[in-house]
Amino acid sequence: MKIKLAKSAGFCFGVKRALSIALKTTRSSFPVHMLGDIVHNEDVVKEINASGIKKITKLRDGKGKMLLVRAHGSCNTILKSALKRGYTIVDATCPMVKEIHRIVKQAENLGRRVIIIGDKHHDEVHGITGQLKQKALIIDNPGRLPASLSKIRSATVVVQSTQNLEKALSIVEKLKEKIFDLEFCNTICKPTKIKQEEIKHIPLNNDCVIVIGSRKSANTKRLYEISRSLNPKTYWVQSQENLKKSWFKGMRSAGVTAGASTPDATTNKIIAAIKKLSRSR
Ligand code: SF4
Repeated sequence: MKIKLAKSAGFCFGVKRALSIALKTTRSSFPVHMLGDIVHNEDVVKEINASGIKKITKLRDGKGKMLLVRAHGSCNTILKSALKRGYTIVDATCPMVKEIHRIVKQAENLGRRVIIIGDKHHDEVHGITGQLKQKALIIDNPGRLPASLSKIRSATVVVQSTQNLEKALSIVEKLKEKIFDLEFCNTICKPTKIKQEEIKHIPLNNDCVIVIGSRKSANTKRLYEISRSLNPKTYWVQSQENLKKSWFKGMRSAGVTAGASTPDATTNKIIAAIKKLSRSR
């Protein structure tokens, strides 16, 4: 069985950058704290914990300590509270997420309502809403638009960086029917666009597809959903233990891709395991 690995598989620019900043902080003599996980991937989280960075669930006395802000960013109230407690902030927010923060703040200053297309439970969306004084509207489904939309005169729409472009565009089309002055900023990041473009071909050119990444990873979920809609023999795995021999029975080719927070080491182990399983069919 042939195995075709997607060119865009694995770490995106923002995750690489956040990890490099995180590992640099460990060279200092100060304890480093982080609220939550640096990215949504268990293998990366293990590596970060092993490097000495401590995951915390709430801010403590920060004197003499560093607070590492994750790739998804953070809201202003947390940053202000951290500074008050004495933490030194080390900001590993992805520049593409920072750009979304800049757009929403500018829109609010101009008196426009901010609409975010994204998952209201995701850290990145919390970080975006946390830049604003007013409440932003969060929409994640073209079939579930809030009734209050018709009262909005002007709005700026941004998109969580890892959302599916087609879904975002269909929501924007619906919003245009309700809001006269609508500005759409397509803030889906470039690595996500490249990955989503590539995954449109892989399922059509291979008998089955393996998508590698954490169950917590939003961008991996999107890759899985797109691939599965094109090829039902799409499987989402986090480690080689999740693979099943039966998936590869009669398959001549398997496409493989990995989410933006999946390390190459994990992908390589899984590819080696797929090779082994397909040889023993
Ligand atoms: S997925 Fe995009 S926005 Fe998120 S960290 Fe990677 S490059 Fe940045």
